[in-house]
Amino acid sequence: MRLAPLGFRLFALVIVAAGGLALYSWGKGHPQDLPWTPLILADATGRFTQYKIARLRDDFPGCRAVLDRGQVDYTVLTPVAAGGACGYDDGVRLGRDSGGVYAPRADTSCSVAIGLFLWEKQVVEPAAMRHFGQKVTRIDTFGSYACRPVRGGREGRWSEHARANAIDIAAFRLADGRRISVAGGWTRTDADGAFLRDVRDGACRMFSTVLSPDYNALHRDHLHLDQASRGGWGFCR
Ligand SMILES: [Zn+2]
Repeated sequence: MRLAPLGFRLFALVIVAAGGLALYSWGKGHPQDLPWTPLILADATGRFTQYKIARLRDDFPGCRAVLDRGQVDYTVLTPVAAGGACGYDDGVRLGRDSGGVYAPRADTSCSVAIGLFLWEKQVVEPAAMRHFGQKVTRIDTFGSYACRPVRGGREGRWSEHARANAIDIAAFRLADGRRISVAGGWTRTDADGAFLRDVRDGACRMFSTVLSPDYNALHRDHLHLDQASRGGWGFCR
């Protein structure tokens, strides 16, 4: 009668080992879906991509290491000390080869730059090909750094813009010269509207906060993307 429990224990051990092995080999093929693997910019975005970017928010050397490992061309910006809640010391500007289509140039916190790098390559470019069959040649922005509180927010709450940890996206210029703006295209039911919704939804995989015209009237003409610390939880609307 002792053999049965032992046999059962062996059987359970084999099941656990097989399960562990299966998880291990699955994880090897999906590092972006595991929380403990390093962020690799060449990987597809996965379940934990946004969590990994958020962790870099207060780790400038770690954030730069991700850019360096991805052979991203960028420059470090001179720190800005504006007193109080304003200023930044983790600003970068992506080079032309690595994300040079922003106008004006996107000078943002390192973790926003990582979000923009991934968003452009994995969301914006494929969406433009899908909906219009052409490339995006320029992304118009309303800028990143602005020493101001949250518009329409509670008094004294500072915007992520005050730390260059946000960027507002206004429009996308296509190769044929057409301009798809958030203000003009959001409510349309054609390719323009579908494209804008796709790039909004896709941004949620690499930014901790994404606000669109669906959120409130203050965002009727732009997409607000930021990397606010949210304890790993995103807000996307
Ligand atoms: Zn904004």
